[in-house]
Amino acid sequence: MPHVAFVPLTGFRVREPEMLELGMAMPGLRPRIGAIAGLPALGLLTLAGMTPEPWTCSYHDAPGVDDDLLDAVLAQQPTIVAISALTASILDAYELAGKLREHNVPTIIGGLHATACPGEAEEHCDAVVVGDGEPVWQDVLNDAKTGSLRQRYQATKPFDLSKTPLPRFDLLGDAKRPRMTIQTQRGCPFACEFCAASRLLGPFREKPVANLEHELAAIQVIDPQPMIELADDNTFAGRRDPRPLFEALRRSNARYFTEVDWRIGERPELLNGLAASGCVQVLIGVESLFFDPPGMGAKSASLQRIMDAVNAIQSSGIAVIGCFIVGCDGETAESMDRLGEFLTACPFADIQLTIQTPFPGTALYRRLRDTGRLLEDRHWDSYTLFDVTYRPDQLTVRELEQGFQKLVQTCFAGGPARRRKQLRREIWRRHPKLQSCE
Ligand code: SF4
Repeated sequence: MPHVAFVPLTGFRVREPEMLELGMAMPGLRPRIGAIAGLPALGLLTLAGMTPEPWTCSYHDAPGVDDDLLDAVLAQQPTIVAISALTASILDAYELAGKLREHNVPTIIGGLHATACPGEAEEHCDAVVVGDGEPVWQDVLNDAKTGSLRQRYQATKPFDLSKTPLPRFDLLGDAKRPRMTIQTQRGCPFACEFCAASRLLGPFREKPVANLEHELAAIQVIDPQPMIELADDNTFAGRRDPRPLFEALRRSNARYFTEVDWRIGERPELLNGLAASGCVQVLIGVESLFFDPPGMGAKSASLQRIMDAVNAIQSSGIAVIGCFIVGCDGETAESMDRLGEFLTACPFADIQLTIQTPFPGTALYRRLRDTGRLLEDRHWDSYTLFDVTYRPDQLTVRELEQGFQKLVQTCFAGGPARRRKQLRREIWRRHPKLQSCE
């Protein structure tokens, strides 16, 4: 029987030893890192859902490559191994492909990094999917079965999300996942300079609510009261009426988290339904207090307007994680200190801090590469969001690293983390569906 082994390489990665130590030690950082690392790989589970009989499938998520992973995959005697990895884990993916090649097992890779760097991925894997995987998956299976894989598969048009099959959540096994995941849309109408997710896999599209109802029902079989993370880049950025989606989510009995832009705080009709549908937390990219990265579109606004929107969202019982990027052009030691002062006193129920990272495929990557500012000695495993990979314009690399570590210490140490925990408690007391979420 032909078999596909699906291998998402998950896990939190940091190169800089001081930062790694900090990340593991800070109480405010650990839960978010754990939640991201434990998310099921929806893209691969969806491909499994469109894999017909007599093919069989297995799923092997792993934080890195070791003998246990290799043995588990080889034990399936796979016809093909489908690997997904982000930029930070792509070298692990290539290592796994190399080891499988020694056992004459063909590999195929897809996702954002492989789409941005297909030539590089072809050097390590037998085949590469560029862009959406769904439209070409049947061709991949047919070619794998006959031993005639092409080097590159690329759909001629974007995948119609109404044709999405039910993801094979059953492949996840019996162990309860902290979070399940569904995707209500793909891409984003904006094009922030640093963002790889918004356009690389095609234009902005929304998945019909009927598909989502089936996915939510399948998740409910596994967990009657699930915690769901929407695998969206900017939920509600489209123009559709959110009420049918809210109703589907409300009926699923899920609590959920998603990423949005602050403008939802100026839509009272949306806020009215959001908490009642089970939303407990949203992440909002404020990005910077001082600099406006190009491409932010209507998401760009004064800090006061953004904070008014954040307060409106939190008043409705939904906790907001404010997301900030450090190291944009113009960043100085003083601007980082001012950000630290703001973040220790701000009303955000939680915060996320990352270093600006020029992921391949982004306008930011092209700009820094073309001006010779990418650090030649930092390979993809440094593209973690917590390591510096380019020369800042106002600071040395070391100054940015040290300034970022100081900020992390300031914002995620016990006192500020406890203050935000208390804020979340107060916000969730106002939530119509829960008393506490922690
Ligand atoms: S709003 Fe968010 S998802 Fe959209 S392009 Fe900007 S960073 Fe990416």
